[in-house]
Amino acid sequence: MPIEISASRNSQILPSKFGDYYDCDDLRLKVKLYLKINFIRKLFFIRNFLKKAERMTILNSAICPYCSCGCRLYPRYSANGRLTGLAPLRNHPVSRGSLCIRGWNAHEYVRYSDRLSAPTIRKNGNQYESSWEEAIGIASSCMQNVIQKWGPQSVGFIGSSRCSNEDNYLLMHLARSVVKTGNIDSKNRITYLPVLDAFYEGLRIGSPTITFNQISKADFIMVAGSDLSGSCPQGASRICDALKHNAKLAVVDPRGSNLAKLANHHLKVLPSTDLYWINGMISHLITKEKINAEFINQKTTGYTELRKGLEDFSPAFAEKFCGIPAELMMIVAEQFASAQNAVIIIGSGITNTRDIKKTVRALINLGLITGHIGKESSGILLSGADNNTQGTWDMGVLPDRLPGGFPLNMSNQEKYQQFKFKSKPVAGKNYNEILAGVISGDIHALYIMGDNPLEFHENRNEFEKALSELDLLIVQDLFPSEMTNIAKIVFPASAPFERAGTFTNSERRVQWFDPLIEPFANTKSDWEIIASVFRAMDSDPGVQQVSEITDQISDTIPFYENMKAENLKKEIQGITWLPDNDGNPSEPWLQEDWKGEFSTAFPSKDDTIERREEYPLLLIPGRFHSFWGTGIRSCRTSLLIREDQRSFIQMNPADAQKFGVKNGWRVRVISPAAKIETSVEISENIPPGAVFIPMHKIDGALHQFSRKSQPVRIESC
Ligand code: SF4
Repeated sequence: MPIEISASRNSQILPSKFGDYYDCDDLRLKVKLYLKINFIRKLFFIRNFLKKAERMTILNSAICPYCSCGCRLYPRYSANGRLTGLAPLRNHPVSRGSLCIRGWNAHEYVRYSDRLSAPTIRKNGNQYESSWEEAIGIASSCMQNVIQKWGPQSVGFIGSSRCSNEDNYLLMHLARSVVKTGNIDSKNRITYLPVLDAFYEGLRIGSPTITFNQISKADFIMVAGSDLSGSCPQGASRICDALKHNAKLAVVDPRGSNLAKLANHHLKVLPSTDLYWINGMISHLITKEKINAEFINQKTTGYTELRKGLEDFSPAFAEKFCGIPAELMMIVAEQFASAQNAVIIIGSGITNTRDIKKTVRALINLGLITGHIGKESSGILLSGADNNTQGTWDMGVLPDRLPGGFPLNMSNQEKYQQFKFKSKPVAGKNYNEILAGVISGDIHALYIMGDNPLEFHENRNEFEKALSELDLLIVQDLFPSEMTNIAKIVFPASAPFERAGTFTNSERRVQWFDPLIEPFANTKSDWEIIASVFRAMDSDPGVQQVSEITDQISDTIPFYENMKAENLKKEIQGITWLPDNDGNPSEPWLQEDWKGEFSTAFPSKDDTIERREEYPLLLIPGRFHSFWGTGIRSCRTSLLIREDQRSFIQMNPADAQKFGVKNGWRVRVISPAAKIETSVEISENIPPGAVFIPMHKIDGALHQFSRKSQPVRIESC
């Protein structure tokens, strides 16, 4: 209703559109009210406009290509249709209207100037641009020659957690159905796949057990080996939510970090000694009978062996190895056990240990013994993985499992035909064994999708030479690298924003993503390239479109059953899976016969890193704020590089004095296998005896070393 503005000073009753009545004495008050109502109207208009815009973009949105949080993004275009930015969706359960700096800027690397733009083939030592037909033809005939001459087990395949479920599923099928080899794995073998294997063996579910939002409601959060503010920003934001309602936070990390500053307890563990503090806590809880006996009796197996194995173990014994005061271990263990809901978050400190699987099994023991598994806001979450690490495992890009984590030893033909394999699948070499096979001469052909195995290889020179001498090396990627330089065939792939498919985040959320822009130059989606190789090898992949692969996955993997492309496209939040006994999505521990399995994951001499006199420091590799992995994509993003483009070695002031170096000095960092030059940064955040180098490639090039914690020494340049 329009408001009548009168100059009269007489009091008036003014009806508002909200049905209230305002007593207006003078003109000023009326004008104020008028402006206020108009302002509210505008707010409503803006809100409705934003809602409408968000609804419109639901049909055209993507998933962040970096970390395993899986934030959903929608695009921003310039007037001429160029992708100029990305923004978060407000009603998405993970992004909740916020992104980290990587997500906001994820569009930039996609059109970076050095993108691979056309297939190339190597002839007489030189690389030439070729047509797709020629490159695919040579790839397939070379592979057939290798199979004929050396057999199918001489071919290796490496998938990627940066590629979609559809890409990985089809690569797995090419390996298992067409070539008939089990030599397929991904680089996650050296970090995250052992974690998922441990989950599968201990909890009967090959994935973390809780969602990010459940962290917000936990009463006790234990973060093992990570500064989530960089590696898992959405996990860190949920911890902040939980702290607001007085949850307790314990951070087990040798380094001081943003998260450690917020913690009630910072347990400064010596690198790679995690099995000691975990078993120290478990033994204390057993001794003090602060365990959940009812849960152990009803829902677990193997407790007797665990208890017997820890009879001589104690926090005081653990302290000698891990450096955490026994008393602190006991306090944290008791608070964890007595919490209503408690969460364990696994970070890179755990995935850098010698025996990742054993360490994660020990953490599972801690969760099971206290009954903090399988309840709302109680469980285990993995942080810091790539955006499709979970999907790579689910799709069976594994040498010893089939899609969905099913074992290879299936009893009958009917069962493996469910996976559309023509013959019984065989076990193969894992990632490390495939790379070793290249050096030993057992592998003659290697197909690599979205990976650079030269990074972090301990024996770079020998490995590079062996790669260049392979009968066939196919590299499928976005950017040039040491690998594309020596490949026989290079297939240029489309980036995630240039195609459609699905990713599965670390809370098992399977999400459809749309193409936001046209494919770059003469590039193709990874799955399209693999399908062409299928056809060139006289096999039918049975798909013409990406959604047909999504449907095939849904038909094949029981717990992806309701994840047909059509369903996923409608669900902007994605669909989360959890298998029950029949493979139906459910919470397995709610099934009557679900039982978690304790393991005897005790420390042994091989698990700790031996210090040698000539290498007195322990190198902790890790991520640094805005960069992701070795920076293949994040180092091609101007804003992220502007944040901090140096690499450095961080060390404690006492060590700096001991080794006679000062802030900013250039030093050589030397391990038994590699050597790099970088600058010193002195920091109280690093414990004495340890040093930290970030993984990204600019300047310091940590990737020359192996990715694990390792002994090093430093020398002034
Ligand atoms: S990097 Fe992770 S937290 Fe950051 S926007 Fe991407 S998915 Fe979200």
